[in-house]
Amino acid sequence: MRPAETSMPSATFIFPTRQLLHLTCAILLAVLPAGISIAAEDAPAPSNTSPIGVDPFQQIDSLLPTPTESRLASGAPGPAYWQQKASYKVDVTLDEDKRRLKGFERVHYENNSPHSLSYLWLQLQPDTYTPDSPATLTRTWSDNGSVSIGDLQRALTPETFAGGMIISGVKDATGKPLKTMIHQGLLKIELPAPLAPRSSFDFELAWEYAINDIKLLPGRTGYEMLDDGNAIYGLAYWYPRMCAYTDYGGWRTKQFIGRGEFTVEFGDYDVTIHVPADHAVAATGELMNPEEALTPEQRERLKKSDTSDAPVFIVTKDEAEAKRKVKTFPQHKAWRFKAENVRDFAFATSRTFVVDAWGVPLNGRTVRCMSLYPKEGMPLWDKYATHSVAQAIEVYSEVTGIPYPWPHCTAVMGIVSGGMEYPMINFNSPKPEKDGTYTETVKNRLISVIIHETGHNWFPMIINNDERHWMWLDEGFNQFVQGFAERAWKRRLGKSGEPSKITEYLVNPAHQPIMTQPDNLKDVGRNAYAKTSTGLTMLRETILGREVFDAAFKEYCRRWAFKRPEPADFFRTMEDASGFDLDWFWRGWFFSTSSNDVEVLAVTRRLLQTGDPAKDKERDDRKEAKLPPSLTEERDANLAKRVDKYDMLKDFYDTYDPHAITEKKVDRYQKFMERLTPEEKATLANHQLLYEVRIRNNGELPMPLILQLEFDDGSKEIRRYPAEIWRLDGAEFSKLLITAKPLKSVMADPYNETADINYSNNRFPRTIAETDLTITKPTSGEPRTPRPGTPNTPASAAPSSDASNPMREHQEELRRKEQAAKKAEKKPDSAEAKPEQK
Ligand SMILES: [Zn+2]
Repeated sequence: MRPAETSMPSATFIFPTRQLLHLTCAILLAVLPAGISIAAEDAPAPSNTSPIGVDPFQQIDSLLPTPTESRLASGAPGPAYWQQKASYKVDVTLDEDKRRLKGFERVHYENNSPHSLSYLWLQLQPDTYTPDSPATLTRTWSDNGSVSIGDLQRALTPETFAGGMIISGVKDATGKPLKTMIHQGLLKIELPAPLAPRSSFDFELAWEYAINDIKLLPGRTGYEMLDDGNAIYGLAYWYPRMCAYTDYGGWRTKQFIGRGEFTVEFGDYDVTIHVPADHAVAATGELMNPEEALTPEQRERLKKSDTSDAPVFIVTKDEAEAKRKVKTFPQHKAWRFKAENVRDFAFATSRTFVVDAWGVPLNGRTVRCMSLYPKEGMPLWDKYATHSVAQAIEVYSEVTGIPYPWPHCTAVMGIVSGGMEYPMINFNSPKPEKDGTYTETVKNRLISVIIHETGHNWFPMIINNDERHWMWLDEGFNQFVQGFAERAWKRRLGKSGEPSKITEYLVNPAHQPIMTQPDNLKDVGRNAYAKTSTGLTMLRETILGREVFDAAFKEYCRRWAFKRPEPADFFRTMEDASGFDLDWFWRGWFFSTSSNDVEVLAVTRRLLQTGDPAKDKERDDRKEAKLPPSLTEERDANLAKRVDKYDMLKDFYDTYDPHAITEKKVDRYQKFMERLTPEEKATLANHQLLYEVRIRNNGELPMPLILQLEFDDGSKEIRRYPAEIWRLDGAEFSKLLITAKPLKSVMADPYNETADINYSNNRFPRTIAETDLTITKPTSGEPRTPRPGTPNTPASAAPSSDASNPMREHQEELRRKEQAAKKAEKKPDSAEAKPEQK
């Protein structure tokens, strides 16, 4: 899913939704003959190094599960890999008057495990909306002394809502009742006899429940009332679903408390949906009875849309509008859908839906991209929604190497705050203002959200990770690939994986390891989504390079398509397929909250001293001349000296030059040079400029070191060093740089690609920073704007980034000009009065 904003709402009573030169200093010193010393000019004293807790390069074997024949040490599924299969035949009816859903379901459960099972577990996710559910009971409260009426309603409704699934008639295939137990949104079925390995069990059950109004009980499913009393139904986790039984964790029965999404099995679905006959329905799966469900005209339009070069309306705005005159419709119509090898089934139904469709060619097939939205979604949805679906289908197929496998992909407006994904279908919230205008933010959000939710067809609908336990494996991966689709859409989209954008989170008290169960995350948006996608961006752009990363990432997708990967399978596959040891990165970025703050402490020019008397004298004279006089010396400049007054006090040392070239010095130098081999002499003759760069990491996360050298002539050069440069001292080291030209400055991480939490100390020498100082002058009588965070300031009083609506301002300006022009036409005599200047 995708939260409405990148971070969670502050009021927690809201329902919990969502090349380099290889010469090292040691090697170079080894080639220097005895007798040579390196003198440092203006070398500072070495600073203290701070000890770090755990060796950041220690292998992570102890943090990962032991490989098995099901999950190999390479990260691939092994010869013993198995997963269960759960198939469903469901007949479901929407009672629009009572806003209830009733269903009858047959489940065919295939035990592919090598184990006998004596009971089955099913999830009853509508039980989330009951007063005694773990989700309701574990909600906590905080406010700033005020609360909106809507938030108050959302806080109180879960305490009283008569929701929850009513289960009846649980029977085996022969009609024999089965013993059951229901608690905490789980249904346990005791089997009459243990279900042997590689055998199956069929059972049936009936159920019904009250659908939640998303204004009062928000989440990923429910109905959304429109102003005219008509509703959009987005129905998800609406049927009892098999819990996953896994090789790594047995039955996955961790309760749904609102955020950790779904751990489910693949299976085949045959679902018949009975809805009022004037509804339009979209669902997971292929429509099996178009002759019954669609009009001849709609079928003709659909056929046309398959080969058109733009989306085609299947239900027009006028047609949808005509149906909205009635709130409920007595007759029902059946829509039958079949889907194979999917992990879930969702549907959307409403008489308000405008429908457009477009056949998008993909790998020799045509994928039907569709959008369903009420007129309230226009003029945004009709222009951008289906194109966004198509963009995601094309880009994700390419990046993951797995072409979209299903017949259609559909975006639906409504229900959720943000967006929510299901196989082949997703729900999305962004829409225009009631006057038909919209901000650029809303437009971009619509495109991004639909791309994101469509992208979930790969993560987790194809690569079926255990969402309840590891949200980052789908949300973070999806947000990462979403960036590819956004960047290929237009210039100003697709900045979400930029390392510079995550640094604020890395230093925030809410920062937690990515390897955290999602319900326990304080800031899910910046953790599972943003930190994960940033990690993948750094792996691709900085640590592995695009070619190596892309091949390894595709390998992970290929290995785990239609299977269930665990985090270790990803970590191991990426190392196995890239040929890189990435344990340090997994440990630092995924298992810890460490961060990096590289600081260029000092750059020192190192001058080789061979003992050549002529060079020594020149250098020593220069050094002495550079020494500034002391204050006392300066003030005593004209002080009469006794030795000048009494010549007899002078001797050898009054004229002696300690830097003078003497026979002894010349002889010593000649003897040293005679001992050097021709190769050693050549080394000394050809050496370039040497600079010692002192680098410090004020954090604990090792990252590759990227240095930009700027030379006196203005030219620049980038040098890259792997993270292992920190292996012996994670806090501080020196690097010897050999250059042909004099250095002017050294900048660490010039492209801001390593999520360095303090960028102000990356350059040597430092530069003067610039920040804005905004000048204001309050008009008389205007209350002073309270600073954000001031107690008793309602959240709604904070300025919204959407407060300005350039499209509306533009339309108002056009209207004013039009009116002025009309006025001028009516009074030709006063045309010269130029009314618009009044
Ligand atoms: Zn998502």
